[in-house]
Amino acid sequence: MKNRKLAILGGEPVVPKLSTYQSIGARESDAVKKVLESQCISGFYGSPGPEFLGGPQIQSFEASWAERFEVRHAVSVNSNTSGLIAAMAAIGLGPGDEVILPAWSMSATAMAPLFYGGIPVFADIDDETFCIDFEHVKSQITSRTRAIIAVNLFGHPARLADLKALADQHGLYLIEDNAQAPLGSENGKLCGTVGHIGVFSLNYHKHIHTGEGGMCVTNDDDLALRLQLVRNHGENLVTAEGINDISNLIGMNLRMTEMSAAIGLVQLDQIDQHVSRREQIATRLSEGTADLLGWQPPKVRDHCRHNYYCWVVKYSAEEVGVPLTDFSRALTAEGFPNFTRYLPPLYMLPVFQKRQAIGRNGFPFSLSDIEYPPGLCPVTESLHDDGVLLFEPCAWEISSEICDSLVEAVRKVYNQREALPRTS
Ligand SMILES: *Cc1c(COP(=O)(O)O)cnc(C)c1O
Repeated sequence: MKNRKLAILGGEPVVPKLSTYQSIGARESDAVKKVLESQCISGFYGSPGPEFLGGPQIQSFEASWAERFEVRHAVSVNSNTSGLIAAMAAIGLGPGDEVILPAWSMSATAMAPLFYGGIPVFADIDDETFCIDFEHVKSQITSRTRAIIAVNLFGHPARLADLKALADQHGLYLIEDNAQAPLGSENGKLCGTVGHIGVFSLNYHKHIHTGEGGMCVTNDDDLALRLQLVRNHGENLVTAEGINDISNLIGMNLRMTEMSAAIGLVQLDQIDQHVSRREQIATRLSEGTADLLGWQPPKVRDHCRHNYYCWVVKYSAEEVGVPLTDFSRALTAEGFPNFTRYLPPLYMLPVFQKRQAIGRNGFPFSLSDIEYPPGLCPVTESLHDDGVLLFEPCAWEISSEICDSLVEAVRKVYNQREALPRTS
């Protein structure tokens, strides 16, 4: 292939203009229209009775979800964030209890324990899969540890079986933040279903979506009931028979609407196609660029399925010979939408640095001597600073021709890297 002029130097971009992925179609529209015509756009009531569990679309969505993910219970909520908070309530988390979770995730993972006075304890990540580092989790278990939250980040499973065994051995709960990894799996076990509770996101950016929404799954009858109570003003029901432990059952309104559930039913029916499509795109991108030195496409652990919520390349500026930001800029100029920073290590957020969460007196940090100094999780910090280049296959309409052009864009920039303009 001849060296065409780089787009960043005024040449033609390699990638045609992309349009956003069209994932809502006629079936979703019809489903919503039927709900509107039924006049029942939310079937919930926050008091005892059949309406406590929601209307027909909610119940049908939950039943289908439980079947698809092979779990006893699916409890819908209005977001993954709500689901994580409900999970912390359901396990009975209390002030001063420690929860070990990864430094690299969306902030909601680390906020959830704070609502019940729990203390997040950060573990570093594995530098190949970007998921929580098992050994670091193990070394941070104390008599105050109550739970571990594993995040199946970017669509790759954390070491779920090992984490579950560790949790069981120490009498801890394992919660999975599975916002990004529906149909991801480890040894044939679906992500989200290994821990005591798994939480899925149905927000606009995820594999399948309902506008806003989330789903909690569990095989434990008691946890399922507690999740349902937290979702819907549980304090009104705690006098009911069979509810002995009323701790943390001050309920909220975390309910999903009938319209969202109706969309969710259609999307769930297509989840295999949505996930396979991303796998195909990611596989092609990986295969087409695997030979480049200093450019490492996503690795998949043995016996795991990665669903490629994000396609994340590990980049070595030393080996490529160009700073990551300059490479990324040139790639963007070629029409390849990419970005170089996910989220900062979560302990760098002001809530941890200033130790101020609930009220003004440092609660819950005042109950603990856990600290959050810079340097706490070196792998997360260095990958965040200049270690990875990310692309969201979820976001774009990508034909196989476009996919080839994305590969070509990487190769074009790589081959002419010595000519790239430098910003630093
Ligand atoms: C998207 C996401 C969330 C939050 O999901 P919402 O449904 O928007 O509340 C939490 N954790 C991770 C890892 C996510 O990717």
